[in-house]
Amino acid sequence: MLVIGLTGGIGSGKSTVARILKENGANLILADDIAKEIMQPHMPAYKKIIEHFGTNIMAEDEQIDRKKLAKIVFSDNEQLLYLNKVTHGAVADRISELISEFRKSQQNLVAVEAIVPIKHGFLDLVDTVWVVIASEKTRINRIMKRSGLTYEEAKKRIESQMSDDEYKSIADLVVYNDGTLKELEEKVWGLLKNEESNPS
Ligand code: ATP
Repeated sequence: MLVIGLTGGIGSGKSTVARILKENGANLILADDIAKEIMQPHMPAYKKIIEHFGTNIMAEDEQIDRKKLAKIVFSDNEQLLYLNKVTHGAVADRISELISEFRKSQQNLVAVEAIVPIKHGFLDLVDTVWVVIASEKTRINRIMKRSGLTYEEAKKRIESQMSDDEYKSIADLVVYNDGTLKELEEKVWGLLKNEESNPS
């Protein structure tokens, strides 16, 4: 079984690459979905987050309001570090469990998509790391269009994350995504063929 770790900054096109891989038979593990799962009431990270950030990040149904939380952590790096510390271990454990389940059921291809390529929960669990890179201008345009953020908000999100050079330093392979969707699809098909004919 080949496990591809897929990462890159906001708006680079990770989810789009993940979708293309899925269309080519990959089982997907989305770290963001797992992060939501572990922040549900009664899950381990929930209590710690509410205690630290206060009950005003809670929605009426007592769920954590991720938009409110994002607003806080994306304007204060220390808060982002705290949130990461609380959530990463739990997310990593769950990713590891899911990979084992796919291995047991004899799947051929798994892609783990994560915006933060956490140690022990990503880099150590995947066979190869694909980093998706696009220019800042392209990313800002995509984020504004998709999420309705302002130019400044989109830029701030990008700046709060790892730089392209940091992403590249952990990459086995860089997927440049400034072109069209068709170009991206063709690139991913080619890379997949290559991985299959030269297993690591
Ligand atoms: P995030 O971290 O915010 O989830 P991401 O890296 O997963 O971002 P995507 O969601 O894949 O990025 O892409 C962001 C937006 O850009 C989406 O609306 C997607 O459809 C669009 N997009 C991605 N790649 C291309 C492309 N090559 N051409 C046109 N639009 C694209």
